[in-house]
This record gives sequence, structure tokens and C-alpha cells, in this order.
Amino acid sequence: MTVITRFAPSPTGTLHVGNIRTALHNWLLAKKSGGRFLLRIDDTDVARSREEHVEAIRADLAWLGLNPEREERQSARFAIYETAFERLVAAGRLYRCYETAQELDLKRKVLLGRGLPPIYDRSALKLTEADHAAKSAVGERPHWRFLLDHDAPIEWVDGIRGSQHFDPRQMSDPVVRRADGSWLYMLPSVIDDIEMGVTDVLRGEDHVSNTATQVQMFTALGAPVPRFAHEALLTGAEGKLSKRLGSLGVAEMRENGIEPEALIALLARLGTSDPVDAALDVEALAASFDLARFGRAPARFDDAELSRVNAAVIHRLPHARVAERLPKGMSEAAWEAIRPNLNTVAEAAEWWRVVTGPVDAPEFDAETRTYLDHAYAVAAALDWAEDPWGALTGALKETTGRKGKALFLPLRQALTGMDHGPDMKAMLPLIGKDEALKRLG
Ligand code: GLU
Repeated sequence: MTVITRFAPSPTGTLHVGNIRTALHNWLLAKKSGGRFLLRIDDTDVARSREEHVEAIRADLAWLGLNPEREERQSARFAIYETAFERLVAAGRLYRCYETAQELDLKRKVLLGRGLPPIYDRSALKLTEADHAAKSAVGERPHWRFLLDHDAPIEWVDGIRGSQHFDPRQMSDPVVRRADGSWLYMLPSVIDDIEMGVTDVLRGEDHVSNTATQVQMFTALGAPVPRFAHEALLTGAEGKLSKRLGSLGVAEMRENGIEPEALIALLARLGTSDPVDAALDVEALAASFDLARFGRAPARFDDAELSRVNAAVIHRLPHARVAERLPKGMSEAAWEAIRPNLNTVAEAAEWWRVVTGPVDAPEFDAETRTYLDHAYAVAAALDWAEDPWGALTGALKETTGRKGKALFLPLRQALTGMDHGPDMKAMLPLIGKDEALKRLG
């Protein structure tokens, strides 16, 4: 059976790394077995959903290369939910309730006060048709609860958490639809997973108790229960990650020079004890993706680690991948010379300025000045075509007896205005003979 996974964000905010990790893992899970990855926009909450967030979600996924095969929006599927709803009403699995939020709160407090779990008491089940008619006559509209089957223990083997057991008697019948007819998350998600043929639901462990309820909804709708896996949540430096925590938003990371390959390499492995490897592409990451490798302890997302992985990724990026983001005229040779010194692609411009000049060399003392004048003469006589740096430093070593820092540093300072930087062997041909002589003289 083809594996079908889905990423189902609510467009009420921008995606943070935790959401991106969920999207990536669903994508990898599908890719690993040649399956399909879907995007489902959970926008039943019309008041809180925003089009700009939908667009940002698409843009983030596209930037990461996590392209869904199909996109669906819950707001366009209300007719489908209505049909399933009517089936469940007819089967006696949904029932009408009228308690206000205050009444429910009071019931909960009473139970808690008696040391009992705050489970909904199902008193609405006792209402007769005459009671419903009377409520309707005075304009009271019901909200709807799903009737859990108390005799069907809830069990599933979670792909990450292992065997899970829930006693439905210890759970409240969940509200699935509000009095104004709007939907809560729980039931539409199940209807969609059935209709879209989702085989694997992989999401955060904050959904474990939802799953317990949803397992019975699949069964009530006559559908097989998909495989479930719940990942330990990601924590950030600030503790719990929030969708509104812009500091860890994808758009901001992108602006800070984070490459999609880096985010993918890190997030693919975060939560496992497998090493993060910047050299692995998505094919390799998909092939090695295995839910069994994920632990149950919360994984910590660390900006510094992301920066390290990002640098390692950049040190391998081919020129073609970055060409349009480089300064005009910056060649492949220049990219390859400069790349090992970069933390972000944008920094390439700074090193390119060192190549094109002008550079600000420090004031040299008299002895160093004499050395550089000598270097000028040697450089002027050099055939520049082949390894001028090797030839220059080789000749200077011989004629001056200098070595190490005394040999190299003044040259680097005069030629680049810097104490450190990319390999001079690669830099000097880029600077060119005329410009190099100007800087030495
Ligand atoms: N919209 C839900 C959320 O953002 C989806 C959960 C699910 O994957 O079913 O958490």
C-alpha cells in the first residue's frame, strides 16, 4: 500500500522550526517508501486563519523543497464534513448538548473538588426529543459531542512511543461542532485522513490525547485506523516553541543566511542520536529516516548548532547553486576560494571586495616595509600564470630566510588588508598581478 503522509498546519501564524520538523519528517517518511506527501491547510477556524499565513506556509515549504503532491483546504470541504456528520448522527455517535462554558467549568470544579477526574458527565444524553424541541423553540442551538464507545479500549502501537492504551471511560466525549455550526479540529481531521487515504499520521506528542479520541472516530466512520507516531516536542533556547515565536520563524532564518539544506540536515536528525551530517542530501536522509531512531525526550533546537551545520553546508555548495546571490563578476574559482571562510553566502561579498579592492593595509614598520619592497620586486618578475603565491613565498623564503608568520603575515596584510582569510594560494590569482603589485608597493 502506498504510504501517504500529510502536514496539516493551521494558518494562524508562521511556521517555526518545530512545525518545519514535522513537515520534513512527513515528507521524508513518504519519500523513503516512494509514497506521497500532502499539505492540508487546517483553516476551519475562519476568524484566526489568515491568507498571508497560508502563503507563508507554501513559501516556506517551497524554499525547503518539501513540495506537496496535493494541497487541500479544510474551509473548502465543509460539504464533505456535513455528510460524515449526518452519518454519525444517524448512527447515534454524535449528540446534542447545551451546557454553557460556565456550566461546564462549574461541573469540572465540582469533580476536581471531590478528587475526581473532570470528565463530562453526559447529562445531555438524558434529554428527550421534547426537551430538544423546547430548547429550539426558545432559540437555543446545540453544540455536538462525539459519543466515545466505553466498551472499546483504545490501543495503538505508536511509531515512536510504542504501545499506547487509553480507557475511554476516563475521557470526556469531545465537542466536535459548535452551536454556530463551526467545526473544531478533531472530526474534520479524521474525515480528511480517511478521504485522502492517509496511511501514516506523524505529528507532535501534544496530539496524543487527540489520537486516543480520533482512533474511535476512524472506527465509527468505518475506516481503518492509520499508523500513528508522535514526536517529542522541540524546545528552543526560550523553552517551549510557539507558532508566534518569530525569532525561530523560517522566514527570519532565511533572512539570516540559513540555507535550506542546513535546516533539513539538522531537523532530519534532531531527536535521534544519529549525527547531523551536512554532506547528506535529501535522498540519503530519506533512505536513513527511521521513526525507531527517535527518542521520547524533548529535543533541543540550538541556533548555534544550526549555524555550524549551515557553515558546513555552505563549504560544499556548488557555484551554480549560489551564483545569482553573489556579487557581479564573482567567478566559480572565486567562490571556491572564498567558500571555506563563509558562515553565510552573503559574506562572500565582503571577501569579494577584498579581491577587487581597494584594501586598507596597516602601517608597516621599516623592517617589514623593506621586506614588502623586496616582495614587490620578486612578484613583478614572476610568471603569474601558475601558482604565483607558491612561487612568491618560495622565493622570499630563500632570499630572506623568513618563515612561518614572519614570511606570510605581512604579505597577507598588504595584499588583503586582513590578518586572516581565504587561502592566499587561491586568492592571489584572483587579485591579479597588477593589483597585487599596487598593494605590495
Ligand atoms: N492543524 C493541526 C495542528 O496544527 C493538525 C494536527 C494533525 O496533524 O492532525 O496541530
